[in-house]
Amino acid sequence: MKKFDVLVIGGGPGGTPAALALAAGGRRVLLVERGPGLGGTCLFEGCIPSKILHESARRLIAIRSASQFGVRIGDCQPVIDWAAIMARKTAILQHRSMAAIEQAKKIETLTVQFGVARLLGARSARVTPASGDAFDVEFDKAIIATGSQPNRLALHGADLPRVITSDEVFDLRQLPQTLVVIGGGPVGVEMAQIFAALGSRVTLLHGGERILAPVDAEIAQVLQDYMRRQGIAVELGAKVSRICHSGDGAFVRYHDNLEVDREVYGEYILEVVGRRANVDELGLEKTGVRFDRNGIRVNGQLETDEPGIYAVGDVIGRPMFAHWASAQAQALAASLLGKPTRFPTPALNTAVIFSMPEIGIGGLTEVEARAAGHDVGIARHDLSTDARSQIIGKAEGTLKLVYDRTTRVLLGVHMLADGAGASMGEVALALGAGVSVDTLALSIHPHPTLSESFGLAARGHMR
Ligand code: FAD
Repeated sequence: MKKFDVLVIGGGPGGTPAALALAAGGRRVLLVERGPGLGGTCLFEGCIPSKILHESARRLIAIRSASQFGVRIGDCQPVIDWAAIMARKTAILQHRSMAAIEQAKKIETLTVQFGVARLLGARSARVTPASGDAFDVEFDKAIIATGSQPNRLALHGADLPRVITSDEVFDLRQLPQTLVVIGGGPVGVEMAQIFAALGSRVTLLHGGERILAPVDAEIAQVLQDYMRRQGIAVELGAKVSRICHSGDGAFVRYHDNLEVDREVYGEYILEVVGRRANVDELGLEKTGVRFDRNGIRVNGQLETDEPGIYAVGDVIGRPMFAHWASAQAQALAASLLGKPTRFPTPALNTAVIFSMPEIGIGGLTEVEARAAGHDVGIARHDLSTDARSQIIGKAEGTLKLVYDRTTRVLLGVHMLADGAGASMGEVALALGAGVSVDTLALSIHPHPTLSESFGLAARGHMR
């Protein structure tokens, strides 16, 4: 039986960097990936394809609003070439996956095997290749990075062919004329806005009283209003009861927030109602690894209940982000190589929701900071007065800084603005370094950029 120092199961943003770093550090590593290439959900059904569509939508909006900037396009009407968007997406995905495989090939001690891995015990696993015979391996340590999959609603009609999830939406053969999105979380919001911008008539059904539950309430409200102005029918408090096939699409029946029965037709129904950890058929029952409805249970060093078996990324639950999975993977690899490291903590995480305008999130919300016992101070900046926002014609948006009034330390940053995503790098650095609101105020930000707003917000609260 072949023996490896480390078995890594799953070649997404969690598994791949862990395998690369450990092999580069001299460990004999076997990376097993079930899918067609390296990259995981992020590359094939998540971050990258969604942002490729997002970029096409942004270009279309830019062309349509060109006259506002003194650029006249004449009578030409931009036309969506869906096949070309899909071809561009496929090319980028293939290129990125091949680049990851090429990078892996350069490291002698790393073996990449396409196939499915299943644990046989705490130190052995069976690998069933995509083609060829299954073989067993032994290992000293294992990292489970098997990610997550879309939740499905337990509803009559949820298995109809026109009811799809984020796994299928990036392979549609044509742009739907009508789309019903069920779920107002980050992916639901992004998809609703992208398809609406590209020309689909979109209804967003959300069970809660507001979209984007984990996001700062004021910011979510501004985006919700914006989505309605964009022409998206946002139905809050909507309880979906059944889905019925009809012609080339389906009707979704739901009770609205006044308990009135309603139905809405969509050529496709996109279910985006959260994700669940990939823990099935992994052989976990043959080990001491424990999991619950949130995913595999780990300690602060990402070790499971079975010593020597670790887990990173979506499979251990929220937050579910590619950069978060990679940060965990890097920290774990460093720790297993005996190097000093800092394991990531959610309070220092940053994220971007690629809505239009974008939402940048860093650290704690006002509510979370109060719940954690901080003496909370809030600094704001209205982006309608911001030079960059006016220049790009997007004078709507807001910035909110959350800090501790006693320690002065910055705790959270919440921003709604076109281009907010690009500013979150500074936020990651500021939160990670424990920067104070006074240091932020004294930082010299370049003019005219969106990042100036951090200094402007902080200055009003300087000691
Ligand atoms: P995954 O990427 O899911 O990788 C797990 C891998 O394990 C998969 O390739 C799978 O095939 C493999 N696997 C599973 N079981 C086995 C097995 N038994 N044997 C072998 N291989 C196995 N995050 C962001 O940070 N930014 C974004 O903009 C963003 N946008 C998103 C948009 C959408 C539509 C979705 C769905 C997600 C988005 N995410 C985004 C989230 C991001 O994709 C995930 O958080 C990230 O991919 C998690 O990485 P992972 O390595 O933990 O899991």
